[in-house]
Amino acid sequence: MTAPNKDSEWFRERCESGCQICGTKLYGKNNGIEWSHLVNDGAGGDNKEVNCLALCPNCAYTLDYVLKPAIYKALNEFTNGEVPDNWENGEGRVKL
Ligand SMILES: [Zn+2]
Repeated sequence: MTAPNKDSEWFRERCESGCQICGTKLYGKNNGIEWSHLVNDGAGGDNKEVNCLALCPNCAYTLDYVLKPAIYKALNEFTNGEVPDNWENGEGRVKL
């Protein structure tokens, strides 16, 4: 999948803000940001803002190769692939 439209306001804002997970500021071409799509084009995703995360290379790798497979496995195990409703506004963290 290609990168989002570079002329859009949200694209520029996300590039300037740094990685959406760790906040790392990157420099160079596209600020070094990698665009991770939550839903890939083969599954109906596109380059709209709601489907794109601007991430540093480390977080993009972690999301795509660690978190997505783990989330996929857990959702299929416990919810038949449905996203839990409490994800919409952020899941609460359990403090030990
Ligand atoms: Zn990051």
